[in-house]
Amino acid sequence: MSEIIDSMPWNCGDDDCEQKWHLRNFWAYEDGTFSVDEYADGDHHDIEFSELPDGDDVAASWREYHQHVAETGQDPLGQFSVKATRSERQRWEVKFARTIAGPMVVEMRRAGRRYQHGWEVPGQVADYLNISKEIGKRARVQGVTNDDLEDLGFRFYVWQVLHIDVLQVRPSYIVERELKSAARKALRTA
Ligand SMILES: [Zn+2]
Repeated sequence: MSEIIDSMPWNCGDDDCEQKWHLRNFWAYEDGTFSVDEYADGDHHDIEFSELPDGDDVAASWREYHQHVAETGQDPLGQFSVKATRSERQRWEVKFARTIAGPMVVEMRRAGRRYQHGWEVPGQVADYLNISKEIGKRARVQGVTNDDLEDLGFRFYVWQVLHIDVLQVRPSYIVERELKSAARKALRTA
């Protein structure tokens, strides 16, 4: 049996290190020995009981980290649950053609814009329809036959409405603002 008894964020200050902040984990073992894992990467070295941090050291390290997040809006250790993406339901219209090779997307439109090739539509929409985004390739719907598509209630050569859930990256200024606010709250309640 072994367990993490304390975790402390620390800043390596290394110019070559993009993350700068790391988590230092202190481990206790059943035989009464201790170790520290400086980068929380599984690379341990043994320490004495006297080298373990006290509660004030741990609290101070977290305060310092939360101050960093409150000032920069960056959370390199992923301590705050602020979502970087959100799901958006989009209304697309699609026109299918019946071909010998199976159903083909011949035209799509959304929000006043027309798309005539698979490679023009966003990747997540192409994935949803299971069409290739490769330039020069026809937008054949993979994995279904013409009959399958009709069985699903779709018709050929007329506009068909599809609602597609697309994951959007949230603007970074909003994510940063929420991280700053979450970190300030953590500092107040610490
Ligand atoms: Zn580093």
